[in-house]
Amino acid sequence: MKITEVKTRRLRAAIPQEGQVFSRSGVRNYRSTTLVQIDTDEGVSGLGSCSGNGELIEFIVAKILSPLIVGMDPTRIDEVWEQAYVRGGHKEFGTRGIGVVALSGVDVALWDIIGKIRGLPLYQILGGKCRDKVPVYATALYPEKPSTVAKKARLFADQGFQGVKIKVGFDLDQDIEIVRAVRKELGRDFIVMTDANQGYTVDVGLKAAEAFADIGVFWLEEPLFADDIAGHAQLREKTEVPIAVGENLHMCSAFENFVARQAVDFLQPDVARAGGITEIRKIAALAAEHRVPLSFHTWGDAVALAASVHLSAAMPECTVMELDYTYNPLRAELLRQPLKVENGFMAPPDKPGLGIELDADALARFAFSGVEELAVRQKALTAR
Ligand SMILES: [Mg+2]
Repeated sequence: MKITEVKTRRLRAAIPQEGQVFSRSGVRNYRSTTLVQIDTDEGVSGLGSCSGNGELIEFIVAKILSPLIVGMDPTRIDEVWEQAYVRGGHKEFGTRGIGVVALSGVDVALWDIIGKIRGLPLYQILGGKCRDKVPVYATALYPEKPSTVAKKARLFADQGFQGVKIKVGFDLDQDIEIVRAVRKELGRDFIVMTDANQGYTVDVGLKAAEAFADIGVFWLEEPLFADDIAGHAQLREKTEVPIAVGENLHMCSAFENFVARQAVDFLQPDVARAGGITEIRKIAALAAEHRVPLSFHTWGDAVALAASVHLSAAMPECTVMELDYTYNPLRAELLRQPLKVENGFMAPPDKPGLGIELDADALARFAFSGVEELAVRQKALTAR
C-alpha cells in the first residue's frame, strides 16, 4: 500500500455576535481549522486535523511533508515519522511549533487508515477500551457578571456535564469573584476548573492560585506563559491548587520537561497540535510512569474531537476530557453523524478508524481559500 496524495482543506466559520467570546487570546469572531486527507493506491483514505495557522500548515504539508512521504506505506507509521520528522521535516520547520502541528494532522490520518484497513475502530487499534464512555467537562464560561456566569454554569451542571471551566487571567479580583459565584451556585463537590490562558505573571498567579485553592477549584490551567516551567513549578510548590498545562506544548519532550521539574499536575496535550496519536502515545507513557493524569485539550473541530474521544476511551491515564461547548459549527455540523454528548459522557464511534464521515454540504459551506485571510486577520486585530 502506498500514499498517493496528502491534501489539506482549510475551513472557517463566522461566529455571530451573540456567540462570540472573549478570552486572553482576544475576541473570537470566527472558528477555523485545517483538515488533512491522505489518499492511498488502494482507495482507502484517512482524515486528520491540525489546530494552528492554516496558511502555514497548508504550506508545510504541501511543500515539506507531502514530498517526503508520498510513495511510502501508510501502515508503517513509525517509518513515516522517521522520514517526515527525524530525517527531513524538523530540519526545515524546527523540532517544535507549527511543523509539528502540521505533522499532527498527517499522523492522525495515518491511524485512521490503519483502523479502516483492519476494520477496527481506533480505540481497538490503541489496545481496546478502558472505559465505555468518556466523562467530559464543558468549556464555555467567559468573563461576565458573576451572577450571569453562575447561572450559565448551573445550566451545564443540569445537562449532566462532569465539570465546568471558567476563563480567568484578567483582573484578579474579578476572576476570584466569578469563580466564587460559580462555586456557590454549584456546591462544594462539583468540578470547577479555571483557565488563565497564560494571562498571569508569577506574582499575580500566586495570589490567584491561593484564592482558587481556597475556593476548591479542580485545577488552574496555563496560569503563566506556556514555556515558563520554573514559574509553574514555583506556583505548584507554594500553593495547593493543581496546575494543568499542555495545549501549547509540542512533542513529548516538552511535557517531559514539565514533569521532570515537577511543574504540572495534569497534562493536557492536543492531538491536533502535540504530534498526533503517535506522539500522544509517548506522552501517555510518560503520564503512566509518573502517575500524572491526562486530560485532552480539544478545541478545533469534530475530527480532532473524535480522535480525542477514542484516545480518552483507550488510555487508562485519562481523566475527564475537555469539550469546547462554545459556538462552533466546525464541531457541531462537520460530520454526517455528529458526535453526541449524553448526560456528560461521550462514546467513541464504533466504525473503523476514527469512525466518522465528513458532511459534504458542511465542507462546501465552510470552505476557505485564504484569499480573505488578510482582511479577516486585520478585523480580528482591530476588535482586540
Ligand atoms: Mg486552555
